[in-house]
Amino acid sequence: MAAATTALRIGVIGGSIAGCAAAVAGSRAGADVTVYERSGAELQDRGFGIVIPPPLHRELVGSGYLDARMETAPVATRVWLTREPGGRSTRELARQSSPVTPCNWGLLWRSLRAGAGSGAVRYLRGEPVTSVGTAPDGRAVVTTARGEERYDIVVGADGHASRTRQLLAPGLTPEPAGYLVWRGAIPLSALADHPRELELLRGAWVTLGFPGGHGIFYLIPGAGDRLLAYAIYGRPPASPGVDADPGPYVSELAEEHFPAAWAEIVGHGTHRTTACHPVADLQVPRAARAPLLLAGDAAGVSRPHTASGAVKALQDALCLERVLRDEPTVGAALERYADERTAAGAHLVELGRRMGRAQVEGTPDWAAMGQAEVDDWFRGVLAGTRHYLYEQPGAGVTA
Ligand SMILES: Cc1cc2nc3c(=O)[nH]c(=O)nc-3n(C[C@H](O)[C@H](O)[C@H](O)COP(=O)(O)OP(=O)(O)OC[C@H]3O[C@@H](n4cnc5c(N)ncnc54)[C@H](O)[C@@H]3O)c2cc1C
Repeated sequence: MAAATTALRIGVIGGSIAGCAAAVAGSRAGADVTVYERSGAELQDRGFGIVIPPPLHRELVGSGYLDARMETAPVATRVWLTREPGGRSTRELARQSSPVTPCNWGLLWRSLRAGAGSGAVRYLRGEPVTSVGTAPDGRAVVTTARGEERYDIVVGADGHASRTRQLLAPGLTPEPAGYLVWRGAIPLSALADHPRELELLRGAWVTLGFPGGHGIFYLIPGAGDRLLAYAIYGRPPASPGVDADPGPYVSELAEEHFPAAWAEIVGHGTHRTTACHPVADLQVPRAARAPLLLAGDAAGVSRPHTASGAVKALQDALCLERVLRDEPTVGAALERYADERTAAGAHLVELGRRMGRAQVEGTPDWAAMGQAEVDDWFRGVLAGTRHYLYEQPGAGVTA
C-alpha cells in the first residue's frame, strides 16, 4: 500500500485511547487520518489508573507512540491481602512477581493525543459522527454536521457503547456480570496518616480479598502529586441509585470487610475522582470487514480484572500499523487485522470471566489461604493460558 500514488484516507470515530492510537498507527503507515471526537471538552481529566505491561510501554515509547517523558509508576510485585479473621488488622496471603507499568489515564491520553497531533492527522473535537455508510465504490462514507467525507478505511474507536460496532455485529449487546466496580483516586498528600500502606504501594500493587469481591490498589502519577488509584469489585447494594453517588456505599462495604487501615483509605473524603460502573463484557465475532475496522472497546470489552482494555487498544493500533505496511490491499490488511485482533479479544473476554468468577462471584475463603493456595488457585484460573499480571504464579518474587 505504501506504493499508492495518493495517500490512503482513514477516518477514525472516537478520539480517546483507541482512536488516538489508531491515528498514530495510520499516520505512521503513511495515511491521511481524520479523527472525529464527539466531546468538545479535553479528555484528560478522568484521572483513573491504567496498568499496562512494561514491554508494551517500552515498545510504544521506542516506536514513537508515547512520549518517553510521560510519567509512570512501575512496580514489580503483587501482594495479596485480606482482613485478619475476627479482627481488623491486615493479613498478607501471598506475593507474586508481577511487573506492571501503572499510568494515569489522562497522561496516557495526552501523550497519544500529542502523537496524533503531528503529521497527517486532523483531530476534530466536538464533532459527533451521525452515520457511517458504504459508497458504491466500496469506500466508507462518514456523515457529521459538516457534511459527508469518504475514506478507504473507517476505524470505529467509539468505545463500549459503539454505534459503529452495530454495522459489523448488529444486535450484539453486552453481557452483564451481575456486579459493580467502584473506582477512585486519592492524592498521596491526603494519606499522610497511612505510611505503612503507602510504603507497601511504593513497591507493589495490592489485591485485597473480601467475601463477595476484592479491591485493587496501586499508585499512579498525577499532575504533580502521585495518586492512589483503586478499583473495588462487589455485588450491588440492595437499594438502587448508588451510581449517582458511589462514595457512601463503597465506604460502607470497605468498613464492613476491609482491614481498618484500607477501609479508612477508601472512606477518605477527598477523592479526586469516583465512579461506579456495572461490569459487563462483549466481543464482536469479527473485528473488521472492509472498509470498517473496530478498535479498543468498540471491538470488545473484557471484564476489567484483565487490566487489558487500553492494552488491547494499543495493541490494536500496533497491529493496524503493521498490516497497513505489510499487506498489498486494504482488503488484505483488514482481513489480517480481523484474524489477529478478534482472537486476542475473545481470549481476554474468556479470561476476564474466569477471573470474575474466581475473584467476585465465587470468592475463596481468603483467610484460609497462603502463598501456595493463592498460586494454585490462580494457576487454575489461568487454565494454561498466560497473562501479564500473573506471569507465572509460584515462580516467586523477582524484585
Ligand atoms: C474499572 C476499570 C479498570 C480498568 N483498568 C484498566 C487497566 O488497568 N488497563 C487497561 O489496559 N485497561 C483498563 N480498563 C479499560 C480501559 O479503560 C478501556 O478499555 C479504554 O479506556 C477504552 O478506550 P477506548 O478509546 O476504546 O474507548 P473510550 O475511552 O470509551 O472512547 C470512546 C470515544 O469515542 C467517542 N465517541 C463515541 N461515539 C462517537 C461518535 N458518534 N462520534 C465521535 N466520537 C464518538 C467518545 O466521546 C469517546 O471519547 C479499565 C476499565 C475499567 C472500567
